[in-house]
Amino acid sequence: MLQQFKMPARKEVEQALLRVLFQRGGAITEFGSGEEIVNEMADEFGLTLDQRKAVLQTTYRAENRVKNSLLWHRLLFRAADVLANADMVSRPTQTVRLTKRKEWMLTEKGLDAAMRLSNISPARKESLPVKSFEVQKVVKSLVESTKPPDYDPVDRNKRVTQVTTESALRGRGFRQAVTEAYDLKCAVCGLKIWSPDYLSWEVQAAHIVPNRLLGRDDIWNGIAFCHLHHWAFDVGWFTLSEDFRIELSPQIGNFPASFGKVQNYDFIRALADESTKMFLPTPAEFRPDYRALRWHRDNIFSKSTNIKNITGTPCQR
Ligand SMILES: [Zn+2]
Repeated sequence: MLQQFKMPARKEVEQALLRVLFQRGGAITEFGSGEEIVNEMADEFGLTLDQRKAVLQTTYRAENRVKNSLLWHRLLFRAADVLANADMVSRPTQTVRLTKRKEWMLTEKGLDAAMRLSNISPARKESLPVKSFEVQKVVKSLVESTKPPDYDPVDRNKRVTQVTTESALRGRGFRQAVTEAYDLKCAVCGLKIWSPDYLSWEVQAAHIVPNRLLGRDDIWNGIAFCHLHHWAFDVGWFTLSEDFRIELSPQIGNFPASFGKVQNYDFIRALADESTKMFLPTPAEFRPDYRALRWHRDNIFSKSTNIKNITGTPCQR
């Protein structure tokens, strides 16, 4: 039957499916015939209309009925089934428990394979926004956990010297949970942009108490910022009050008006504008914890604003 319609080999379909999952951020909805993804993959293989419409008839003798199914759809489903058996993707019945959506999702093993097939260096894995089943489990536990009343943004048991598989998964889970909570936007300037291939996001998940100082990898110790504002927050150009107002370092007054300007946009001073409010995540439980913000004010912001007697001018180049 497969020869007659010259359908692509199942192995090729499996590999194409892994690549498509990778391009789609790690997950695709369960496919039924005629769905977008089914047609897109048919396009990729250059299937003719006849091939797309070829029907496979299955006779169920015991029930005395004949079931017609599209051959291409069946081939796709079989490929996904094989990938699931090989632990490369999670089944929609498994994924739905994590995301509430019936999706095929890459596992870590499947993600590694998809990266190899897409010629993406393994070194990029940590910075890719592609989901995996294991990372999604971390995200689920982060977004569903309840903050203890005595929350401490510093994790005194945290080990930061050794990157283990577990800490790498936790780091990626933190990034995904935080950036999604902020709708992939910078919390102070609202910038929302990603690369044309959708594989690199401008928005970053910032630790309020930094990772190197044992800051927790959870939503209450995180904020999404663009690269510029992430840096400006980390070095103490601004901080956030416990009621999320933006406060600028008085140091800015020591520099000329041209300092910190990108054309007409003044990337630090613009934050002092009355109309600039921090973009807060929903639900409200995902907002930064006041103890983490207090830590930032006391340990980063206050220290950076106490420097007196600045001599010389910043490098002109
Ligand atoms: Zn920004």
